[in-house]
Amino acid sequence: ARRVLRGLPVLRTFCFHDSAGRLKHQRCATLQLPPSRPRRPPTGCRAGSTCDTHIHNFPSHSRQIRFAKSRRQTTVASSSVFLIPSSTVDVAATAMSTRGNGEAPSKQQGVVAASDLRLRGLQSAATAVVQQHSVEPSDDLRNERSRASFDAAELAVFLAGGADKMQTKDRLLALAKGFPGGEKASRANLTREEEHVAALQGAFNIWEKVLARELTREEGLMMRQLLELPSGIELHIGMWIPTLQALATPEQQRRWLDPSLRFQIIGTYAQTELGHGSYLRGLETTAIYDRQTESFILHSPTLTSTKWWPGGLGKTSTHAVVMARLLLDGKDHGPHPFVVQLRSLSDHQPLPGIKVGDMGPKLGYHGVDNGFLRLDHVRVDRDSML
Ligand SMILES: Cc1cc2nc3c(=O)[nH]c(=O)nc-3n(C[C@H](O)[C@H](O)[C@H](O)COP(=O)(O)OP(=O)(O)OC[C@H]3O[C@@H](n4cnc5c(N)ncnc54)[C@H](O)[C@@H]3O)c2cc1C
Repeated sequence: ARRVLRGLPVLRTFCFHDSAGRLKHQRCATLQLPPSRPRRPPTGCRAGSTCDTHIHNFPSHSRQIRFAKSRRQTTVASSSVFLIPSSTVDVAATAMSTRGNGEAPSKQQGVVAASDLRLRGLQSAATAVVQQHSVEPSDDLRNERSRASFDAAELAVFLAGGADKMQTKDRLLALAKGFPGGEKASRANLTREEEHVAALQGAFNIWEKVLARELTREEGLMMRQLLELPSGIELHIGMWIPTLQALATPEQQRRWLDPSLRFQIIGTYAQTELGHGSYLRGLETTAIYDRQTESFILHSPTLTSTKWWPGGLGKTSTHAVVMARLLLDGKDHGPHPFVVQLRSLSDHQPLPGIKVGDMGPKLGYHGVDNGFLRLDHVRVDRDSML
């Protein structure tokens, strides 16, 4: 309560009790809760303690919602958690009305404006303190590094595997910095969509250079590492192509591997299901062989059989190796790999019977569109089994 009176932000709602021990929750109730919300007194909170019971009423509390919000929305939400005296709200509301469009601002707008004022006030004070005591961080680092008991440049050459490799690394690193999203310092400012696109552009730039023989394959692989921006074609390079190289017949390789190496089709590897990760024998997706048409019918019979996680599946891939149980004349032969085309090569739309999409945001790894896939009696010819 003292912190509120001194005008400092409070990130938890304080519960106040009157002299008879009855709960007073006035600030929280009048300033933070929409009037339609029921105001139940929290149970079991002690006088003077912070109250977590009411915090769920604040806009930023739901972590799932907060995660999906933009940074701007999160800032507004978190600033409205501050407890602001009514007088400040009224001042801010009046200030808004004088420069506004004639409409009276709502109480909530007043709260947000007041918290903006409060934030700005706090920021300038905090900035002054930081500036007063600031030390140039690179000076600090330089100072610490100068005390090393070994030659850092020599160690870097050793770790790179020799002076030649170090030179190559430096050259590739400089090249990578020029790619979209290649500048790591500003990467955190990219939206998920921007990072996905930048990562794909970077990945394709590298492979175009490899195909044009401007880079060797090894240099291309090294550049992927140096760029450190995983993309929607990780699985294409890391699983789809190696699976075709290892399991496909020469005809199958002509059909899928050759266009994959030219990036005319993009593949992924769809094994994990919503209900089955490590326990592969539990996979539920079925591939029933139809002797009459000499084709397999691939189907997701349950919710838990939904393919879940494959990289590049959400937006990028046109094809997938789908692990499904082979059912031959009613006999279950366990999981086998099938090549399934997911999206049209002309407009990239999902083909009939295919439900495919992005899993949503993850903690990091935004460049990769991990996805889900459901198959509704999708037919593939018998040569699609690897
Ligand atoms: C970033 C990312 C990318 C992925 N990309 C793909 C992809 O491209 N294609 C694809 O098919 N899948 C992909 N996956 C899925 C991945 O293969 C699965 O997450 C993995 O197989 C584990 O399965 P699960 O998540 O269901 O965990 P579970 O199998 O449920 O395991 C959970 C925990 O239980 C433990 N555990 C499981 N079984 C046992 C046991 N018998 N005894 C003791 N402990 C056990 C595990 O070690 C783990 O700690 C990806 C996952 C991630 C996170």
